[in-house]
Amino acid sequence: MSGRLAVVGLGPGDVRWLTPEADAALAAADALYGYGPYLDRIAIRPGQARHASDNREESARAASALRHAAEGAKVAVVSGGDPGVFAMAAAVCEAIESGPSAWRTLDVTIVPGVTAMLAVAARVGAPLGHDFCALSLSDNLKPWELVERRLDAAASAGFVIALYNPISRARPWQLGTAFERLRRQLPPTTPVVLGRAVGRTDESTVVTTLADANPDSADMATLIIVGSATTRTIVRPGRPPLVYTPRAMEAVRS
Ligand code: SAH
Repeated sequence: MSGRLAVVGLGPGDVRWLTPEADAALAAADALYGYGPYLDRIAIRPGQARHASDNREESARAASALRHAAEGAKVAVVSGGDPGVFAMAAAVCEAIESGPSAWRTLDVTIVPGVTAMLAVAARVGAPLGHDFCALSLSDNLKPWELVERRLDAAASAGFVIALYNPISRARPWQLGTAFERLRRQLPPTTPVVLGRAVGRTDESTVVTTLADANPDSADMATLIIVGSATTRTIVRPGRPPLVYTPRAMEAVRS
């Protein structure tokens, strides 16, 4: 079987954050599958077929792409950021596990990309400089009670927390509830970073505190980093603040 499938991370938006490996995987494909706005970001080469689908159709998209690859095509499935972070690589693995046995013999490659939390962290300093975790606030694929338990556990264990999928029209209240939950465990001065559409022309970044963090300033293109009790903000004259988490507990001075 000569077909193959690459799951390709496009990075958060800026073409300079598309790796040469990702670019080569896109160029080698006969067919590109993905959410429409992600496919819009890349140049379709002559002869390439474009299969855009809705963001909520990840399982169906993975199955279509695998079927196409099993017929002998070179298929690329694209994701924003990294394909393994709340994205298509897991959907493809799920489809392979539950699909026809022929799909297990396909040549499958995952091409990593710059995930949103790394891009947002780089904009403000080094908030992920020590132990951290990433959580999706979407309760499409898990109950909200589990999100709350994980928020409590992460905050009480001292992790910096990156929040993906913070809010959407269908989920307007979750982020406010998450901030309330975190305020029970963390000091009001804990730094909070809201990075929106980082790497795109409409990018914006806000550095605030847990006490002042406003869920209304986030949308579905926003990645939020909530510091731990050791995360610090350096105020600089004439320059934006630097937010960082020291590498060792001993480095913390009050
Ligand atoms: N695979 C992607 C994440 C998909 S989940 C990655 O690795 O980045 C979608 C969420 O990612 C969004 O709701 C938002 O929280 C975050 N996100 C994606 N692109 C972003 C960007 N350019 N700026 C800020 N956050 C972004």
